[in-house]
Amino acid sequence: MVRTGQPARRAGLLTATGLYLTTFAELELSPALCRALAAEDYSRPTPIQVQAIPPLLDGKDVLGCAQTGTGKTAAFALPVLAHLEDDGPQKGKKRVRALVLTPTRELAAQVGESFDTYGRFLPFDSLVIFGGVNEKSQIAALRRGVDILVATPGRLLDLHGRGFVDFSDIEFFILDEADRMLDMGFVNDVKRVLRELPKHRQNLLFSATMPPPIVSLAGSFLKDPVKVEVTPQSTTVERIDQTVMFVDRPDKKRLLRSLLSDRDIERTIVFTRTKHGANRLATFLDKGGITCAAIHGNKTQNARRRALDGFRAGNITALIATDIASRGIDIDDVSHVFNFDLPNEPESYVHRIGRTGRAGRSGVAVSFCDPTEGEYLRDIEKLIGMDIPVVDDHDFHCAAAVPPPRAAKSANSATSGRSAKKPGTGRPSRRRPRGGRRGGANAGRTSGSGSTTSRESAARPARDASRPSGGGQAKPAGATQKPAGSRRRRSSRGGGGPRR
Ligand code: AMP
Repeated sequence: MVRTGQPARRAGLLTATGLYLTTFAELELSPALCRALAAEDYSRPTPIQVQAIPPLLDGKDVLGCAQTGTGKTAAFALPVLAHLEDDGPQKGKKRVRALVLTPTRELAAQVGESFDTYGRFLPFDSLVIFGGVNEKSQIAALRRGVDILVATPGRLLDLHGRGFVDFSDIEFFILDEADRMLDMGFVNDVKRVLRELPKHRQNLLFSATMPPPIVSLAGSFLKDPVKVEVTPQSTTVERIDQTVMFVDRPDKKRLLRSLLSDRDIERTIVFTRTKHGANRLATFLDKGGITCAAIHGNKTQNARRRALDGFRAGNITALIATDIASRGIDIDDVSHVFNFDLPNEPESYVHRIGRTGRAGRSGVAVSFCDPTEGEYLRDIEKLIGMDIPVVDDHDFHCAAAVPPPRAAKSANSATSGRSAKKPGTGRPSRRRPRGGRRGGANAGRTSGSGSTTSRESAARPARDASRPSGGGQAKPAGATQKPAGSRRRRSSRGGGGPRR
């Protein structure tokens, strides 16, 4: 296919829903690819697709800052398929021409599925390989030959070291979720793979965050990359209705059970910090009549797949997951995310809540904060550049868990500047936007009119996907104000603009 490089494909106009007015055909994707996209009901490319596809079609390296949920997989899968299509099917045994490296098995499986979906009208084969499962079928498939290989680093290096994978024909190399690769300690494996690849190839690196080690890794193998970025990580979550509940650690389970009993919650992911915590919580919820499954690194691949399938099918209401297990879970229609434990890395918060509100939808993220987690909460708020509104009229509210305002951290006691509240009063919700950034158009919604119960407010997905988060004017630090209908003081903390 002749690509004209017309400006139309380069300059999309952003619509209110975050999609661009450009069409896939204007991006010069082939009819076969456009047909597959139409079959998936993708009417228009997402912003990351509009930005990444043209340079990738032009053969350039790309450095992409985008997280799961932005459509990043199609952003790299479509151009790879387009190049393969341009060159035509391979003759003889297929050699691996495109290699995608992902940190987790789940993400690898989803990327593989995406290649199959988008390439369904094309004659290319993809294969996914990862550890924790029998290698025989993977080796057999490699022997038969594939065009596209999606792999986690350990199994890839193992099979390569034993001569089952040949890197010598690789033309496209994609490193997906590079920051998670770093978090999971795979960076040296990635470097080993890079050393083995042919010199001349097109490279793409996608990462949700760009900490210095990722910038340095990117610099080591991307050649003059085009940098593309969709809404920075701190604002991709704007359409997610976020709240925090202060609760003592032993009460968390009961608080969660009471929230999950709400019939509005159909599909939720609950994050715990540890695998054992996930197991214990799953047992507790199960006994309470809530169908759930724990998903973490100690589970076999089959158990994970069963859990994910049950979750997708709607047989399981709650998936209890650790961070690593959750990475790359690609399930739309997750209405709620609960942070049963707050993550100690603030970036994980962004990844976690990104499981909901996917593909332009809205979602709800509720975080529990116990007396030991105040610092984590503050770090998260600093990263996302806003104070998370508080829901405090639930039966388990714990005033002692409320951390001091960030600005006055050392001077104030644990509860100063915040309202303490007796638990269990069942009064109407007062979701307090702290720091005043949710004033203006959002004020009535988030500060509560006195007509919404806390359960409702925690359980109901935000309806207005275009609602700007923190849409009001920032109040000067130190200012306090009373939301209508609330007797409570708001936190005096001022919020900065979104940060990266
Ligand atoms: P990803 O960021 O690749 O994990 O994609 C997130 C979700 O968005 C997946 O469920 C995709 O199927 C979906 N998706 C990707 N591109 C589009 C598009 N252009 N229109 C609608 N949905 C899309």
